[in-house]
Amino acid sequence: MAKKNIRHVCGISGGKDSAALAIYLKQQGKYPDMEYYFSDTGCELPETYLFLDKLEAYLGKKIVRLGSESTFEHHLFMSGNMLPSPRQRWCTVKMKLEPFEKFAGTKEDVKSFIAIRGDEHREGYVSSKPNIKPEFPFVHDGIVRKDVFRILEETIGVPKYYKWRSRSGCYFCFFQRREEWLGLYDHHPDLFKKAMELEKVDANENGYTWIEGMTLKELLEKKDSIIEYAENRRKNNDNRTWQEKLLEQGDDMNDKGCLICSL
Ligand code: SF4
Repeated sequence: MAKKNIRHVCGISGGKDSAALAIYLKQQGKYPDMEYYFSDTGCELPETYLFLDKLEAYLGKKIVRLGSESTFEHHLFMSGNMLPSPRQRWCTVKMKLEPFEKFAGTKEDVKSFIAIRGDEHREGYVSSKPNIKPEFPFVHDGIVRKDVFRILEETIGVPKYYKWRSRSGCYFCFFQRREEWLGLYDHHPDLFKKAMELEKVDANENGYTWIEGMTLKELLEKKDSIIEYAENRRKNNDNRTWQEKLLEQGDDMNDKGCLICSL
């Protein structure tokens, strides 16, 4: 009987862990047929696209850009203008999971390599499709956070947006901290403005905002107190580089809600 073909795929989120996994697996040379993919919402940061280009050059292989057939704005319209939120994550389903499952298909067995680390206690996206089997090489090999940074520092570097933001994903991702929204305002005022325009709140304060109970306009009004709060939290770390701070900060609990987008 002919041996069944198995595809090997590695999802790249634009974040540090999945990039390090792709590099780690390439260095091992075990899967020359590896297919890399990136689920592009069309709403990623410009830095993410630059980082993908660097990673692609290192891997020497195309990172296939997957996308929803419709834009974010279309899905938003179809959702009755309800912005996605931690409780209503239609964005991940429509713009990340469904394109991935289409890419994986149903005919062949697919091993999907997921970048959960050995020092994490969280679950990655595990498809309910019977032909997709998850693999966790970092968990298996005990690769932890400091190893991820070492792998990146020795190769393509850590994505630059980590200086002001703790995760990859859409520029408007509702998982970002308040000070990260301010980072978006400082680094990409045009994108911040676009995110503001997507908020819909009526005179009675009913509607949809990215941050629960606060519009982005109100966030800007509270800028000073948000920065002060964030600085107080970080005040003991002043003498270290941003990479060292990042390494020692640990993972944000909110990342647990955004695995497919920010690994
Ligand atoms: S990064 Fe955030 S906003 Fe974008 S798809 Fe993921 S959860 Fe949704």
